[in-house]
Amino acid sequence: MDGFARRGIRCRAESSEDERDEGKQQGLRGFPVRIGYGWDSHEFSSGVPLKLGGTQIPHAKGLKGHSDGDVLLHAITDALLGAIAAPDIGTLFSPSDARWKGQDSVVFLAEALRRVEQAGYKIQNMDSTLILREPKIGPHADRIRRRLSELMGVRPESIGIKAKTPEGLGTDEAAIAHAVVLLERARRGRAAKPAASVADSPPRAR
Ligand code: MG
Repeated sequence: MDGFARRGIRCRAESSEDERDEGKQQGLRGFPVRIGYGWDSHEFSSGVPLKLGGTQIPHAKGLKGHSDGDVLLHAITDALLGAIAAPDIGTLFSPSDARWKGQDSVVFLAEALRRVEQAGYKIQNMDSTLILREPKIGPHADRIRRRLSELMGVRPESIGIKAKTPEGLGTDEAAIAHAVVLLERARRGRAAKPAASVADSPPRAR
């Protein structure tokens, strides 16, 4: 018996029989937590609104892309998809598909969240880092955090928004986003098996 067991604390990694059975049904191993990582970059362009984390940020330039260029939502979406070993955002939402032209990236995030739920998991927390020369993110970080909290259905305290300038990277004309998510097994509301979606087959993307 270890120290945690002596104090009556059950280690989260010790999944119950039910949890292990559920994991097998989902095609995912029975481990109760999963980690996911995603990153993306987009080039700045004049005449385009700047959207980061589903939030419009006042700035002279926005991010160019087939969709709305929301580099942070794209990184988070890929982190969620990666955590459940699903196809990546470029596979699900091809930039060569006219359906996604100018699309609000909230749609991509929603599909990733749907898949996470159907796989039987929920978000424990998300952390992210934006790398861009301008604008300063600090004054907007709380607004982005609140918006992501609303979109992802997790508390603002579970969402990390950090930003750095690209010292020595030579990427002043681009915005880069990295995101990691931690998922934990949901105890309720899971589906028996993932449903097919309109985005299941389309070609490659951004
Ligand atoms: Mg992208």
